[in-house]
Order: sequence, then C-alpha cells, then structure tokens
Amino acid sequence: MTTPVRLERDGDIAVIVIDNPPINAGSAAVRAGLLAAIDTLAHDAALQAGVIIGAGKTFIAGSDLKEFGQPLQDPQLPAVIAAIEACGKPVVAALHGAALGGGYELALGCDYRIAAPDTMVGLPEVTLGIIPGAGGTQRLPRLVGLPKAIALICSGERVAASEALALGLIDAVASGDLRQQAVASARRRNGARSLVRDRSAPCCTPAELAAAGAAALRAGRERPAVRAAIEAVGQAAQADIDQGLAAERAMFQQLRLSVEAKALRHLFFAERASARHAALAGVAPRPVELIAVLGAGTMGAGITIAALDAGYRVLLVEQDPAALERGGSNIDALYADRVQRGRLSAESAAQRLGKLERSLDWNRLAAADLVIEAVFEDLAVKQQVFARLDAVMRRGAILASNTSYLDLDAIAGATARPQDVVGLHFFSPANVMRLLEVVRGAATAPDVLATGLAVGQRLRKLPILTGNAFGFIGNRVYAAYRRQCEFLLEEGAYPEQVDAALEAFGFAMGPFAVADMSGLDIAWRMRQSQAATRDPHARYVDIPDRLCEAGRLGRKTGAGYYRYEPGAKARQVDPVVRDVIDQSRAARHLAPQALDDAAIVRRALLAMVNEAALLLAEGVAGHAADVDLVLINGYGFPRWEGGPVFWARERGRAALERDLDWLALVSGAGFVRGDAGVLLQRED
Ligand code: NAD
Repeated sequence: MTTPVRLERDGDIAVIVIDNPPINAGSAAVRAGLLAAIDTLAHDAALQAGVIIGAGKTFIAGSDLKEFGQPLQDPQLPAVIAAIEACGKPVVAALHGAALGGGYELALGCDYRIAAPDTMVGLPEVTLGIIPGAGGTQRLPRLVGLPKAIALICSGERVAASEALALGLIDAVASGDLRQQAVASARRRNGARSLVRDRSAPCCTPAELAAAGAAALRAGRERPAVRAAIEAVGQAAQADIDQGLAAERAMFQQLRLSVEAKALRHLFFAERASARHAALAGVAPRPVELIAVLGAGTMGAGITIAALDAGYRVLLVEQDPAALERGGSNIDALYADRVQRGRLSAESAAQRLGKLERSLDWNRLAAADLVIEAVFEDLAVKQQVFARLDAVMRRGAILASNTSYLDLDAIAGATARPQDVVGLHFFSPANVMRLLEVVRGAATAPDVLATGLAVGQRLRKLPILTGNAFGFIGNRVYAAYRRQCEFLLEEGAYPEQVDAALEAFGFAMGPFAVADMSGLDIAWRMRQSQAATRDPHARYVDIPDRLCEAGRLGRKTGAGYYRYEPGAKARQVDPVVRDVIDQSRAARHLAPQALDDAAIVRRALLAMVNEAALLLAEGVAGHAADVDLVLINGYGFPRWEGGPVFWARERGRAALERDLDWLALVSGAGFVRGDAGVLLQRED
C-alpha cells in the first residue's frame, strides 16, 4: 500500500515528503504518516534534524473538509504537532503553493518556516464557521502579536510570501531550490530548537486588544466563529500555552458540529461541484486573448475593469462619443482611486490601462476573440447589434450578451452563428460582484460554454451555468421571493416589517429597500409589457403599480416604499405608503392579519425554495446547490445560512412537503408548486 508520507534521507537530515495529490490535504492517512516519520526522526541517531515538504504543486493546502462533519479520526493534528515539538530535534517547514489552515498550523509547530516566493499562507478556518483547532490561535500571536493575529484569523486572509515574511508569518523566502535550502537550514541549526510555543505573545495594551477585537467583530458580522477566534487569541496573552491550546480545541470541536459550519462546508463543496459538468468533460475552451466590450455604460465599464484586472487586452467600443468619454473616465478614475488608496501601484495601474483601447470604430472588433455586449436592454437594439457583430467578427469568435432578462435565442437568431452566442450575465458592479451566470442558448456549442466558464474563472468570478429561461436562475428566484413579500404586504405586513425581518435573518437589505435602490420602474415596465399575456385569474398585487403611478420610483425620486430626505442615506417610513397598502387591501376585502417575523422569513425562504425546485425540474439549473451559490454571491443571501436549498434540506422531506403545500395555499391562484424531491437529491 502506498503511504501519502515518505521519509527520504539527505545525509543526516530526514526529508519528510507529503504526497497526497491533488492538494496534499491533511487527511487521517497524512497525519498518521507524519507521526510515523517524526517518530523515526526522534529515535534514529543518524538523523539530526527534519524538513517537512510537500510533493507536487503545494504544501498541505488545507484539511480534508469531509472529515469535519464526522467524528474525527486519530491521530488528530494537535497530536502530530505535539510530536514535532517533543521530538528533540529541529524541524524546518518548507512551504510552497498553499500552506493554509491545518497546513499552516503544522508549519507553526516547526522550528523554522521557509517558503518559495509563490507561497500563500493563512488560517481561513473562520470562513468555514470554525476556528483553527491545532494551535493556530495560540502560536500565531506569538509570531505577529495579538492584534495582527486577530485580524488575520478573523478575516481568514491569505498572505503572499513577501508580505508573510514582513509580518513574521514565515522566517525566510527561498531564493533558489526550496528543498536544498530547507535542508541546509535544518543542518545549520546544529540540533538547536526554536519553537514558537516557547515564545511569549508580544504584549499589547488592553485598548489595542479591544480595538482589534471590535474591528474584527464588525467586519465578521459578529458570527460565532469570529467571536470564538477573538476569545481564543485573547487566551494566548493570559494563559499558559497548554491551557490556551485546550481551550482552543474545545471551541473548535463545538463549532465544527454547528449548523453554520455545515452550511459553509456545503457552499465550499457546492462551488467545486458547480464547476463540474458532465456534458462539458474534456471539451477544450477556445483561446481568448483580446476581449471586446460593447457599450461603455455602468456594466460595460465594470466588465472592462474586471477583464483588465485579469490581464486581458480589452477593446471598449461605443456608439456615442460622449458615452465612451464618460465610461473611459470612470475606468481611469477607478484605477486612480486604487493607486491613491495604496491598493495598487501606479506602475500596475498604468500597465493595466495600457492594455485598454477605446474606440468608436466597429471594424476594430474584427480582432477580438470574444465580444461582450452590454448595450441597452432592448431586444430590437440587441438584435440589430448582433446582426452587425455577425458581419464584423472573425469566424470562431464568441459573441456574448450581458442581457438580464431577454431571450438569448432571440438574440442569437439575429446572427448566422447561434452556436457561437452565449450569455455572460454579470452583476453590478461587475468588477466587484463574484457571480457570473453563463447562459446556454438552444444552439450554443459546448466549447463556447466551456470558454464562457473558463473566462469567468480567469476573471476570478464564480461562473454558474444556467439555461435560457426568463430571469435565468438568480432573477427568477429573486422575483418569486419579491412576489411573496408583496403578498405579505397585502396580507398584513408593512414594508418596514418585512425588510427588518429579512435583514435580521441576514440579508444585506430587505426586498423593498432593494427595490427602492434599483428603481421600481424597471419591474413596472416589465409588468406592463406582460399584461396582455398574464393569467387573469392569478393573484396580482397592485401596490407597486400604485406607487409608480404616484411617481414614487424609489431612491432616485426621493420616494418609493420609503421616503428619502435629500442628502440623507437612511430610509424613512412613509404614512403615504401605508395608505396605499391599506386601500389596496380594502379594495380586495382583505382583513389584515398579524404576521410575525418568523412567519415572514419562512414565507420568503419557501418561495425561493419552491422556485428552485421548478428551475431544477425544468433543467434551468444543473445542480440544486447552484441556486444557493447564485443567491449568496449575487443577491445578498446570508452566507452562513447556506442558501435556500441548504435550508430546505435541513428541514427534511416531510416538513418541506407540508411547508410547500401551505405556501401554495396562502399564495393563492396562479401559484405553481414545485416538487421538493428534486432539491433533496444530492447530485453534488
Ligand atoms: P447603460 O445604459 O448604463 O449603458 C448602455 C451603454 O450602451 C450606453 O453607454 C450606450 O451608449 C451604449 N450603446 C447602446 N447601443 C449601442 C450600440 N449599438 N453600440 C455601442 N454601444 C451602444 O446600461 P447598463 O446598466 O450598463 O446595462 C447594459 C446591459 O447590461 C443591459 O442589457 C442590462 O440589462 C445588463 N445588466 C445590467 C445590470 C445593472 O445592474 N445595471 C446588471 C446586469 C446586467
């Protein structure tokens, strides 16, 4: 049987090689192998020191997360680290690739840390709802001080080698062969030890500690893992290290079994599963070097920045010289701002902007490998644009649309190459938001889809494949949620109560505050355009129409579901809105009922769950968990709740079926009930 850890001898140095592809995850077998190798090092008189190094492209990039939901297998990581510390001989950690989580904790248990220049180190456990459980919260403050340790552990930040060296997270950056340098360093130590555990945490004032804790808590939205991490690091200043380690382990054990940690692990696996598409296995993406962006408005400018940041050459094309000027200066201003804030060097900004060409000349598009259209949301305009693109783009180039709602097949139909047309639905601001829906038209070729996904990944987005249905995945689920919240207005709640309940659940903003921010007129226009085809018997809430008719289009008009004082950010409850709602209820002879916050949240979530079930049954979404990724990364659904599908699975089949029956009943005519079963099949 092959072991994932082997001991190679380099003279009197034991080189302990972790070889557990693809990422050298710190599995039970790796831990057992390390323990055996350390035992050999301790007892073999011919060996005077050890080096721990990873085979392949990385050190231990993290723990095996699958183990975290189950009883942990021995030997556990703290025992491995304790064995290193007790082995009587110095051990050097030689890092490359990623040394994260348990991987970096292992390095912290060694005497010395040397890293290749490409290494990233960090303790990202908090982002998985847990804390470092193998000494990270006790040893890191002994290297970098308490405030910095709190900031690093609570953010889960990954730090590149050069910065890690400056901060003291590592002791050296290797300039040549990592293994040779690590062996030389181990030999140079002449048997002397310098363990992190033997240092004391550099002191700081209680005020500094409190300030670091308060800032981390705020940034970490006061989640339990952040709170626990602050408490655990605080122990490093007060307690003997063994007491601190025991306290940390107890907190880790408790957190790892929490629903929140389970939800965050679900998202971690959902991201990996979302990238796997059986139909695209082995399909090579087309090469893309020059991306053209058509339209320099809000989205075009954001997409351009995202592409420049990813190292692409970009051609930005407009029809309107003033719009090109405006879009171009927005892009320039964003880079200038990053330089001014110290987030980007002036050279890097100039280098990125140097790859941007701005043009009013459509003929320039002939050189592009991919064009992303971001012009007005109007089918006739887009069809005209695509017919022109078809004439000018080279054969084999990809034609993408950023449309939010229009039928991709109708757009592709304006070209003679529908196989080369794909939807790339970015979210605003496009240079910030991680979600990217990659829309599959009826004729889209597999390698065009594969290219959309690959470009999305290079743009550092989370690309999610979706079918060409109205609203794709995100806007369709969001619309069902918003419609349900409008039902609640009719039944007895006011906007401020619905928003407050959903914000307390964790949404960044409630649905009515969001509607005011985006503008009520977009949905109004859409409802008007669909009026002729709407089922006349379906339940229809007219409150938003009444608000629009009164000129209340949201923040931009100073009033919508709320009132906004000029210059003030805060929304204010407006009695006029209550009157509109009361009148609408009265016209339908609806007696208002008392709705508590829990009922509001349950209705809203069930509406999303039901729509998710419909999307899956229709094949619009490929993996159930994709709906969670879309809602969390594009619509402000609280990450720590895992998304609507995770929530539904936690409820279990019987309760969910009952809930959906109830939702169908309270939602009234026109509601289509989904089948919960499709959500519970765990294809991911
Ligand atoms: P916008 O009005 O800010 O910008 C559109 C730009 O396209 C304008 O500068 C206009 O001059 C230019 N344009 C129009 N016709 C053109 C043509 N024939 N050739 C070249 N340029 C042309 O609009 P936006 O908000 O950036 O939206 C663009 C697209 O992105 C729409 O399809 C929209 O639905 C979609 N979208 C918008 C958002 C958002 O939040 N704004 C989010 C996702 C998707």
